[in-house]
Amino acid sequence: QAKVAGKSCYRFYSRAMDQAVERRMRMEQDLHGAWERGELSVEYQPIYQLADGRMVGAEALLRWAHPRQGRIPPSVFIDVAEQSGLIEQLGRHVLERACADAVRWGEAMPDQPPFVAVNVSARQLRGGGLPEVVANALAAAGLDAARLHVELTETAVLGDELQAGSLLARLRSSGVKVWLDDFGTGFSGLSHLRRVPVDGVKIDRSFVADVLRDPDDLALTSAIIAMAHSLGITVVAEGVENEGQHDVLRERGCDLAQGYWLGRPMSADALMLQMRTPAQGIASIGEGLAGLR
Ligand code: C2E
Ligand code: MG
Ligand code: MG
Ligand code: MG
Repeated sequence: QAKVAGKSCYRFYSRAMDQAVERRMRMEQDLHGAWERGELSVEYQPIYQLADGRMVGAEALLRWAHPRQGRIPPSVFIDVAEQSGLIEQLGRHVLERACADAVRWGEAMPDQPPFVAVNVSARQLRGGGLPEVVANALAAAGLDAARLHVELTETAVLGDELQAGSLLARLRSSGVKVWLDDFGTGFSGLSHLRRVPVDGVKIDRSFVADVLRDPDDLALTSAIIAMAHSLGITVVAEGVENEGQHDVLRERGCDLAQGYWLGRPMSADALMLQMRTPAQGIASIGEGLAGLR
């Protein structure tokens, strides 16, 4: 009897796998031409400087409004795009759009023009053409290279540190800033920062989430901040969801932060409005949010 159950269980399992494979294939087909059909858009999450509460930039985040399935999270479709190679083209579109939007923000804020941070996946890096793609996007938009930040995950640079290192060095010599995303979740930590030179690290939100409850996470976060600073590297915290987390990060000397408590991802126009409202320190941000709650 157990054997029968095992068999039907197996059959059920394999059918579920077939369906998953089929769903992925359909998603890949749907993703073809999705940008041209206007289903994809780019939202921006504001990034603040903790010392004075000023919005200094924003992270570009890709969004897909699927005509039948509604919003599909990037954690799902970016993976499909990466597996199929579509990410190279999508990544170019995001870079071009982000650079163009950053130019508009800069015109509205000429004294302190904000930067835009764009996520780049492992496959885009491995393709090897990233420095050219970035240079073309900057030139097309007329954006100063120093106002573009490229975010890479630790795992993206890990496989081939030498190649990644030389590509990143080329990017950085053009003036583009390179940040390591989801920092702390990989294996190597700060040790490979020697081979892969970066301008900043983004502390993964899993650390930030427990920074008030778990003394280990607070200790790790503080250690990352101290070590990064001793290497001359900027530290960004992601996933700041409440005032307590914000306060402790500022107190520990973290440079920049983003998160739902500070601002949700929004359209380029909405971000421009938010940017124009004069920053009177982080207290005013808290009040502004309190008004929304
Ligand atoms: P990421 O680069 O680590 O982006 C941060 C993610 O955290 C975003 O999720 C953002 O909406 C979310 N987030 C921001 N603040 C908070 C918070 O306070 N609490 C919580 N729980 N989450 C917060 P999103 O937009 O779903 O993006 C997921 C991932 O998809 C990104 O992680 C990035 O790895 C990838 N991604 C997004 N857009 C692009 C893109 O244009 N190209 C590439 N290659 N990857 C992208
Ligand atoms: Mg990111
Ligand atoms: Mg991240
Ligand atoms: Mg993350």
